[in-house]
Amino acid sequence: MHRLNEVCPLLVPQDSRRKRFCGFISVGGVEFRIRIELSPEDTNSLKNTRIDCEWRLAHLLRGSQEIIQKKLELCSNLASFLQEFKSLIEPLVSSRREFQKTTDMSFHAHLAGEINKIGWDRVKSVDASFSSIQLKAWDSRQRLHVLTVKIPKQYPAVALSCLADLPLAFEPHIPEDKDSYLSNLYSEFEYSLAQYEDFWDLFDELDEKTWIIEPEHRNRSSTMRRIAIGTNSSVQIDVDPINPRGIPECRFLGPDHVVSQVRQRMGETLELWNAQLSLFTNLQTLMGIDFPSPQVTNKEDFSMDCGICYAYRLDGKTPDKVCDNSRCGRFYHQACLYEWLRGLATCRQSFGTLFGECPYCEQPITIKMLG
Ligand SMILES: [Zn+2]
Ligand SMILES: [Zn+2]
Repeated sequence: MHRLNEVCPLLVPQDSRRKRFCGFISVGGVEFRIRIELSPEDTNSLKNTRIDCEWRLAHLLRGSQEIIQKKLELCSNLASFLQEFKSLIEPLVSSRREFQKTTDMSFHAHLAGEINKIGWDRVKSVDASFSSIQLKAWDSRQRLHVLTVKIPKQYPAVALSCLADLPLAFEPHIPEDKDSYLSNLYSEFEYSLAQYEDFWDLFDELDEKTWIIEPEHRNRSSTMRRIAIGTNSSVQIDVDPINPRGIPECRFLGPDHVVSQVRQRMGETLELWNAQLSLFTNLQTLMGIDFPSPQVTNKEDFSMDCGICYAYRLDGKTPDKVCDNSRCGRFYHQACLYEWLRGLATCRQSFGTLFGECPYCEQPITIKMLG
């Protein structure tokens, strides 16, 4: 039995039901752009299949419509039809002089060869012009990662570029051997993934067992987490992806009377940090607290909206200025509080700091001048 990715490796399904395909059909060393649309109603027949091809191929096939329709009716699946279709085109191509100067392996055939080496099951998507390919890879914990490869028109004469969701820049060392450029790139990507596994394991535990306030949309490149430690207070950690079990940089956010205790305790217990233990366990031990658990609390209890604009996010910033009055503890965006204080008749300004009153409790509050 014929398999579609063997008969036409450059034909890419456009939908999950595999009713629409787009890409190229390669015959006698020439690639023709083609679009195929199967009728959504017909499950066992290709009778009503629609085939659109580029003008060179359309020109070659003039007068063959009837034969094509016959073949569609006789074939039980797309792969066997395309096999028939190719044998119909083949003699037409070789009889034409304009198609006979194909000594160089063409761009798409080269690419197809490389993708075959990697395996088509690793392809997440290919755009119709083959200028961008997304490849899937899994680390040993079965986390999915995607490598996006941008392919310049002049490839392989001009090198590929790529995008990867990794904590540090992906800088593959690719040997000169251009014939396996793409497959080497893929191996380098897999190798990189293995380097970060411990880092991702540690973050996965934090993400599962704590309320992460920032970043809102987590990705595999982020090295920062802002973790809720109590109402109105959080700790922001920055982890070194090369040494994820080292002590991270910590910044405490929240009313002074809450966070100063935790900050102080952590400063005094740093020698308890144990690289054998996870980030989650170490942080809890050193800070002397249990992080609020997503199992028994709601995130809204920890992500406080701004007391001035009533929003949580403003130009990508979250409210991280807090009133120090222990009975108030309102959160504000730096920019909101700055504008508010500047508008007060009683506002004073000294050494780059604005002095005024909290809009809620009217106790003194200060903010560093912006910009
Ligand atoms: Zn605000
Ligand atoms: Zn206040």
